[in-house]
Amino acid sequence: MRAWVVVENGKPLQQIELPTPEPTGTQVLLEVTHCGVCHSDLHIWEGFYDLGGGKRMSLKDRGVVLPLAMGHEIVGRVAKLGPEARGVKVGDLRIVYPWVGCGTCAACTGEQDNMCLTPRSIGVYQNGGYGSHVVAPHPRHLVDPGTIDPAVAATYACSGITVYSAIRKIMPIAAGEAVVVVGAGGLGMNAIAVLKALGHGNIVVVDVSAEKRAAAMQAGATKTVDGTGEGVTQRILDACGGPVLAVVDLVNGTATARFAFDALRKGGKLVQVGLFGGDLTVPLPLMAIRALTIQGSYVGTPADLRELVALAQSGKLSALPVATVPQAQANDALMRLRDGRITGRVVLRSDVA
Ligand SMILES: [Zn+2]
Ligand SMILES: [Zn+2]
Repeated sequence: MRAWVVVENGKPLQQIELPTPEPTGTQVLLEVTHCGVCHSDLHIWEGFYDLGGGKRMSLKDRGVVLPLAMGHEIVGRVAKLGPEARGVKVGDLRIVYPWVGCGTCAACTGEQDNMCLTPRSIGVYQNGGYGSHVVAPHPRHLVDPGTIDPAVAATYACSGITVYSAIRKIMPIAAGEAVVVVGAGGLGMNAIAVLKALGHGNIVVVDVSAEKRAAAMQAGATKTVDGTGEGVTQRILDACGGPVLAVVDLVNGTATARFAFDALRKGGKLVQVGLFGGDLTVPLPLMAIRALTIQGSYVGTPADLRELVALAQSGKLSALPVATVPQAQANDALMRLRDGRITGRVVLRSDVA
């Protein structure tokens, strides 16, 4: 098999040949047709997360081993089944749920794979979709995209379920109540689409880029707010008609966390999703007096992926702006994402797509 791999952190991806894996047990080998390029790939490529105050979390220390084919937003065609794999057949097109764990603990056997304490996420801890082939540990990690465009379906495996799972954490909320979405990149576009599909009618989107704010309006945002510089909290309050009950921060950096937290009203909830990095100082009495909640949200479950795909199949979820590029241009796509030159999502398309 061919793969475009991280050999050294921060250096260009290299094309290499690897032995094609032989599926064992319940494993399923798939030929990759599509793979989304996700912002978190940039962190894996760089090799660390910024924890604020000059502290970094090294991904090598977390068990990421190089060389690695990144890519966790995968659609592929079943190529070979392990002797114990059931429920799919060769040639089936499937979305791969990538947030797999040990496969044996209570989280994994309870369909909460993303909460496993020994993650084996595809494209992070084992080779992913920046290659010609990928191995799914079990058929239950495969979801039929049905009639959904496979390039769009691929993005459901990370940006889709990440947003879906985060939005479920602010529900139930009245349809006319303002929901603030911070960040109008790939995740932000997904958030607007999911909120609309769930019948929500008041979506206020914050972003520093005028171009991305315009894209958010086109995608169905009610209002947008310029996230640049000082006074962002006030601009959010103005747009929402006062302090808000729910903010989903898809950037989650020092600046966004600050203005998002400061915009909350009594009983409000800030759901932190992004991995931009930094830290947040919280005034503790306000947490109690205002009964505030700050909750982290990390990707989603296999059930989240199945529900999201069903929502898309129902026709309620509008298709997102997705651009496809040949898989061999993985490095170029990653660099464009790093430089902020991508609106929506870029998806690698293989020769067999
Ligand atoms: Zn991702
Ligand atoms: Zn586990």
